[in-house]
Amino acid sequence: MAYDVKFCERIFSKTNGRCHLCRCQLNFNKYGKSDTKDSWEVEHSVPRAKGGTDHLNNLYASCIPCNRSKGSASTRAARAKNGFKCAPLSKKRKVSNALTWGAVGSLAAFFAPPPLRIAVALIGMVAGVTIGHEVEPD
Ligand SMILES: [Zn+2]
Repeated sequence: MAYDVKFCERIFSKTNGRCHLCRCQLNFNKYGKSDTKDSWEVEHSVPRAKGGTDHLNNLYASCIPCNRSKGSASTRAARAKNGFKCAPLSKKRKVSNALTWGAVGSLAAFFAPPPLRIAVALIGMVAGVTIGHEVEPD
């Protein structure tokens, strides 16, 4: 099925331009071109043959080897083959996680003695942002 450019951008950005199965970096301009390493296709998490829809929540960017080798296997099994439990996070989601964890880290200052509060708040914020940027849901 052909998708318009805007819809492809939404699918592509869901995983920050990475294959949702193996996480290799994809090139947006190589949609559907099977001759290059970073080309990609739209992958149905639940295959259409099993009742999967063309709604955004069922569609992911995938490199062509992953998409074609997945077949009718489950997304969970295909990701597990590459050692992953979930899709890569979007850029927006990474920033949101970093801000949340940064705020949580800063709150540690409330439990520190007064002379150390600023240092603990800064360390907590930096640690929180660092952890939050990479944390992934299970
Ligand atoms: Zn892949």
